[in-house]
Amino acid sequence: MTPDRFPLRVMSLHALFYCERLFYLEEVEEIRLADHAVYAGRRLHEQILPLDDESPEHRSIEIASETWGLTGKVDAVRKRDGKWIAYEHKRGRCMRGERNEVLAWPSDRIQVIAYAVLISECFKENVHEGRVRYHTDNVTAIVRIDEQAIDDLKLAIQRGRQLQETTMRPPVASNEKLCNRCSLAPVCLPEEERLGNQPIIDGCSKSDLEISDHGFNDDTDGSAGRIPKLFPSVRSKQTIHVCTPKARIGRSDQTLVIQSEDLSGKSVTQKIPIQEVDAVVIHGYGQITTQAIHLCSYHEVSVQWMSFGGTFVAGTAASPGRVQQRIRQYKALQDEQMQMRLARSLVHAKIEMQLRYLLRSTRGSKGNRESVQKEIECMRQALKGSTTAESCQSLLGFEGMAARAYFAAIPSVLSVSVPSELVPKGRSKHPPLDRFNALLSYGYSLLYGLVERTALSIGLEPSFGFYHRPRSSAPPLVLDVMELFRTNIWEIPLIGSVNRLQWHVNDDFTVTNQKVWLSDAGRRKALAIFEERLNEKHAHPHTGQSMTYSRLVELELRLLEKEWSGHPGLFAKLRLR
Ligand code: SF4
Repeated sequence: MTPDRFPLRVMSLHALFYCERLFYLEEVEEIRLADHAVYAGRRLHEQILPLDDESPEHRSIEIASETWGLTGKVDAVRKRDGKWIAYEHKRGRCMRGERNEVLAWPSDRIQVIAYAVLISECFKENVHEGRVRYHTDNVTAIVRIDEQAIDDLKLAIQRGRQLQETTMRPPVASNEKLCNRCSLAPVCLPEEERLGNQPIIDGCSKSDLEISDHGFNDDTDGSAGRIPKLFPSVRSKQTIHVCTPKARIGRSDQTLVIQSEDLSGKSVTQKIPIQEVDAVVIHGYGQITTQAIHLCSYHEVSVQWMSFGGTFVAGTAASPGRVQQRIRQYKALQDEQMQMRLARSLVHAKIEMQLRYLLRSTRGSKGNRESVQKEIECMRQALKGSTTAESCQSLLGFEGMAARAYFAAIPSVLSVSVPSELVPKGRSKHPPLDRFNALLSYGYSLLYGLVERTALSIGLEPSFGFYHRPRSSAPPLVLDVMELFRTNIWEIPLIGSVNRLQWHVNDDFTVTNQKVWLSDAGRRKALAIFEERLNEKHAHPHTGQSMTYSRLVELELRLLEKEWSGHPGLFAKLRLR
């Protein structure tokens, strides 16, 4: 082993034989996820094996070899008839040979061979046999440690080292069944790659110039059921928003204990197991104990603080190291062509969604449509321009042109029964000057927090983007990806709530001469609408898979990473139905 090389984990050879891409994701990109199968495997090793009556001489010993460049932890080492034998335990079933004989799977075989050679070196005695115990079948496969086995191990190590040197992810496994049992499927997104770059849904490949007044395609579930659903459709955990100033978040064992007050001032205590939490967002001056922060960090649950006014203040990074993953992002996003291509797709998607929304919400009302016809034309021009823009500066121009037209048209999509105080007077921010703008800004801040913690949780570096420039403390990548979700995650449900007269012009807002912001009651209402929207489903145009908006944010970030990980052209295909 050369000194600058880390030893390979024996487990990584197991992954290598399962799927080279799995090896690459785990060993090069340092992405490791535990799914139910992984937890079940850990339970087997922690709870079942210690009760195993075939008591070994050594159990769960860590061994390493500089000569082989390997390190690992073998389940058990036993002496039988005066000879050492390496044992591995597996939860599942064995492989069967032509005559139904018990065999070890190739990935298990290479793993036990590696342990056998490490034991040979460590104990200074030849080990001629390894055994793999399959607990579901209750059988043991014997693995001979002969010349062939040693050659196979050398080749495996060589291949592992080769893959460590490459910068591109290996292709997805040709055997789709492997992916169904792979813990990294939600990261790898194999089905998205297998679908190729052809969007399934016709409407989404249309350029805006083809978008007629009725022209958005509603057939977005058309492909449901055609592909395996390896990317989870719904969030399995909840985001905890803590809004009251006197709230205190503490810890009791593996549970977060939240003490707060309801709107009537009555004290309320909630206990939430950490496994059910994906993030804690503290709005205002609620307190969190160091013990609770430790618990969140250990479980990769991010903690974020927002001001009462809705400004993002700070957050803990719920992200493991993943240095290689970030280096690849840095390198890729330094390429100006890549930056421009991504920025063009992003701005095109954003303007197209705004335009579709405007067309949809004024459909069926001749008066409304006529009143925004000028804005619609302006947005169509901006959309057309965005497809050929050659610099970020010019893209910013088209984006700004579309945004001005879009926000100027918003009053036309509000119902006549909406109180005049809730009708926006243009777009104002820092500070918002009317109630509608206060609501817009608050929701954007919530979206910012969501995109930031999602990017961190999957190992992307938020500071390194492709469209926004690093001018403020806000990380450019977060600002970039937010553009894809402003309309569908916040503006649409917000306008819906305004049209349903859900807002009280006095109780839900605090108004001064200088600015408008949300009251405590207003914030709670906004949070409920935002969280409800995150749990609504939308079909992704590329895969056709219907999933919640919160999962769509994660999916788009993962597709963005694919732009520099061997499968470009999938990012920012998201559109409104
Ligand atoms: S999901 Fe499939 S292609 Fe991706 S790493 Fe797992 S087995 Fe390999």
